[in-house]
Amino acid sequence: MLSYGEAEHTRMLRDTIARFVEKEMPNERVQAWDRDCHFPKDVHMKLVELGLTGLTIDEKYGGTGRDIQSTITVIEELCGRSLSVGGMYIQSTCYAGLNIAEVGSEKQKEELLPKVANEGLIFAYGFSEPDVGADLASVRTTAKRDGNTLIVNGSKRFCSGAAHSDYIYTLVRSGSEEERYRNLSLVLISPDSPGVTLSQQQTLGLKGGGTYDVSFDDVEVPIENLVGGEEAWNNAWPMLVGPGLDIEKVEVAGMALGIAAAAVKEAWEYSQERVQFGKPICTFQSIRHILADVQTQLHACRIMTYHAASLLDQNADATVETSMTKLFVTETAKDIVLKCQEVLGAYGYVTDFNMERLVRDVLVMPILGGSSAIQKNNICNRMKLPR
Ligand SMILES: Cc1cc2nc3c(=O)[nH]c(=O)nc-3n(C[C@H](O)[C@H](O)[C@H](O)COP(=O)(O)OP(=O)(O)OC[C@H]3O[C@@H](n4cnc5c(N)ncnc54)[C@H](O)[C@@H]3O)c2cc1C
Repeated sequence: MLSYGEAEHTRMLRDTIARFVEKEMPNERVQAWDRDCHFPKDVHMKLVELGLTGLTIDEKYGGTGRDIQSTITVIEELCGRSLSVGGMYIQSTCYAGLNIAEVGSEKQKEELLPKVANEGLIFAYGFSEPDVGADLASVRTTAKRDGNTLIVNGSKRFCSGAAHSDYIYTLVRSGSEEERYRNLSLVLISPDSPGVTLSQQQTLGLKGGGTYDVSFDDVEVPIENLVGGEEAWNNAWPMLVGPGLDIEKVEVAGMALGIAAAAVKEAWEYSQERVQFGKPICTFQSIRHILADVQTQLHACRIMTYHAASLLDQNADATVETSMTKLFVTETAKDIVLKCQEVLGAYGYVTDFNMERLVRDVLVMPILGGSSAIQKNNICNRMKLPR
């Protein structure tokens, strides 16, 4: 890998994960997980044993201290081999760990954060709904208070990993719809609760943990599961768009970076093995130029991703930088992977090569965690371009 100023401890972590990936995530297993929409919990638990789900959690709660650059390094390395493992690592370390550390009540931190660090607790995001995509403030799933119980009704869509999660981190409308950004709350709902029904959706990529439609039919949730404690009732919007959102953009960039790096490696190697007209195809200028372009694009993506992560480690206000990173890295990763597919010719289109899966997986990256159009809106709005 080209040098980009990686700290020594991060480089050592990257080497450890690379060895882990070779041992625990061989290509035949990865292909089977993707084909069967399988989440290998045993591999997830080995990451927990290595202490990697504690990278977002303070020592006080059983982690190793919040370190976003290291977390993104793990995400990059895992997603370069398999989103079945990498995606669910994010759902534990970031969805559960970072969110509860950021906006949970003290009681929730004491109870849940050690479980993330030591047991690999997993959250699924229950934000999107059949009629709600980018415009999250218009969610229709409701929660009503009945004493110390919340009664939840409605449905969520695209709830990734819901069947494997301990809790669905669910955005609900908890009061009148008139004030758009008020009267929203976040509730932790176990997918095993009576009244919760899951139904799997078929997707092009990101297959490992599966993506689900979830319906809530008079689901009873204890008030203790209101994220942030009772004072957070009707006050979820600031929790949703706070620093956690900036980190989420860089998580997706880290996933896209891992996929793009894997594609470049595969194309680089293939170009030296494949012989046509009596020569390895890497000797043809057309192929050399593609490979020079993707290496350059990859380097730019890596610098941008880890620069954004370093700003987050400094707790800097990085809303614009993280939006630019999400936009540039995911769109460029898509371009990189499609160019690499070209290097493999017909073999980039068949399922016994990794490239076909990398193509399917990278296509969703500009959509997840705020689409490219939404990032462009953020950049112009935050940079105060008059509307
Ligand atoms: C595989 C997969 C996994 C997912 N996992 C999860 C998950 O775990 N949890 C979850 O809650 N959601 C999840 N999602 C949903 C994802 O977050 C949404 O797809 C995303 O928020 C966009 O919503 P939408 O697709 O409904 O698009 P829409 O919001 O309907 O947008 C459609 C198009 O219009 C554009 N657009 C919308 N609003 C604007 C605007 N204001 N300005 C300019 N352009 C605009 C968008 O960029 C897009 O091109 C997942 C989606 C997929 C495909």
